Amino acid sequence: MPPATSAPPEPARTRGEGQWKLGHREPLNPNERTKRDDDGLNVRVRIETIYARGGFDSIDPSDLRGRFRWWGLYTQRRPGIDGGRTAALDPEELDDRYFMLRVRIDGGALSTEQLRAVGEISETYARDTADVTDRQNIQYHWIRVEDVPAIWQHLEGVGLSTTEACGDTPRVVLGSPLPGVSAAERLDATPAIQAIRERYIGSPEFSNLPRKFKTAISWHQDVAHEVNDVSFVGVVHPEHGPGFDVWVGGGLSTNPKIAQRLGAWVPLDEVPEVWAGIVAVFRDYGYRRLRHRARIKFLVADWGAARFREVLEREYLGQPLIDGPAPDVPAGPVDHIGVHKQVDGRNYVGVAPASGRVSGSTLIGLAKAVEAARSRRVRLTPQQKIVVLDVADDQVGQLLDELAALGLSADPSPWRRTTMACTGIEFCKLAIVETKERAIRLVGELERRLADLHPDVPVSIHLNGCPNACARTQTADIGLKGQIVTDADGNRVEGFQVHLGGGLGLDAGFGRKLRGLKVTSAELGDYIERVVRRFVAQREPAERFAQ
Ligand code: SF4
Repeated sequence: MPPATSAPPEPARTRGEGQWKLGHREPLNPNERTKRDDDGLNVRVRIETIYARGGFDSIDPSDLRGRFRWWGLYTQRRPGIDGGRTAALDPEELDDRYFMLRVRIDGGALSTEQLRAVGEISETYARDTADVTDRQNIQYHWIRVEDVPAIWQHLEGVGLSTTEACGDTPRVVLGSPLPGVSAAERLDATPAIQAIRERYIGSPEFSNLPRKFKTAISWHQDVAHEVNDVSFVGVVHPEHGPGFDVWVGGGLSTNPKIAQRLGAWVPLDEVPEVWAGIVAVFRDYGYRRLRHRARIKFLVADWGAARFREVLEREYLGQPLIDGPAPDVPAGPVDHIGVHKQVDGRNYVGVAPASGRVSGSTLIGLAKAVEAARSRRVRLTPQQKIVVLDVADDQVGQLLDELAALGLSADPSPWRRTTMACTGIEFCKLAIVETKERAIRLVGELERRLADLHPDVPVSIHLNGCPNACARTQTADIGLKGQIVTDADGNRVEGFQVHLGGGLGLDAGFGRKLRGLKVTSAELGDYIERVVRRFVAQREPAERFAQ
């Protein structure tokens, strides 16, 4: 007699989706072939022994455009190629001889020693570039392959790495910037994040996933858990107490999906094991045939949460999970900006660099200012912001002055506070338009144009250089997706498709893409001013933008 719970039936697409567990082992696209031929993690030794000595021209193309990502390295975009040509050119024509390098910072947690090292590397090897990403990483540009071993040595000397910062791997784990300091927190998720990092990151067990895999673990709902591949969100079980509610299958890009709850409650010490089970389901059942259908959100959409949970419990955990309640949804977005009390009586101070752009010298200055305030702990946030922890009352004033001198305001304008931007055409090979510097200029413009307005609800503005939505286009109040548009004189120019009314939390959902609503980059300030003024003028009491 076969067991009552035999292998799950295949989804409707019976041609085979490249699921290992169903016997579809044959690599079905070039990325799968590259991973089969050699584990991405193995490229490190070639970088250290061959490529760093031989320079850019010595790099094997399958390493350059494939396995380098397993160590956080992408070639950056060759300067001078306009966005209209992005899709038409071969990768070699877009490749610069320099790299973007992403430093993995799980939970966004940095000591001042680590922060200083990150800044020194930027000054020495990255032309002083450093962007805080919305995945709590630091991203450098202008990196030469010759310098990569020295950079790794410097990072690893302070306990940081670039391991699996990119590639088809478990990427950086998002975590609350306030672990252990917030009065509202019932459980600090840091031990689970550390255990995942120590046990599974850099392990061949999960170094060949069908696609990238994004994780968020936080008591607070401050990590965009609705749009991660897997999330663990704090919740109190009526019998078992504080633990975590599990969500799977969220993601943005061209097929956005809000994650689904498994309806399961997991105690803190079991989070790493359940996380590993979910990653293994994805590794074994994920769709490897077509790259654009390989994220876990497609599997979850086809299976549904109940079947996903059943396979996880039966085949990977060997026991049922405990049913659990949904967490309450916070009343508004959580960004940790400003000066706030910690549970121990000290303070945390959240500051807003414009669209996450800082520099190595700014980070070194930040480390000095934080140490002068007798703190040692800094956190990066999933909103491209920075939080300083553990500041005594008598140190707050001096720290605020020093942060402001670095361009890091704890009392930013509403526009600086809520604007995010992806990397864009300055460095990203997929980009169609410029985003980062444009967002910084836009913030200044809105501060001038809207100086008379003081909206008491945030209006978030996210600029993305292409449909990939790295800065979460679809979950912004005003989401801007870069494309080439036609201006009033018939010229093809950089611009944006507008998505209105997206959000997370209470307003979790995707902005409406208004057919035909496209603005040129030059019109962006005019357009946003019009939209915001109309919202403020017509708003009902307590109405949010996304309602
Ligand atoms: Fe690059 Fe597009 Fe992502 Fe922006 S959204 S960083 S342009 S891939």
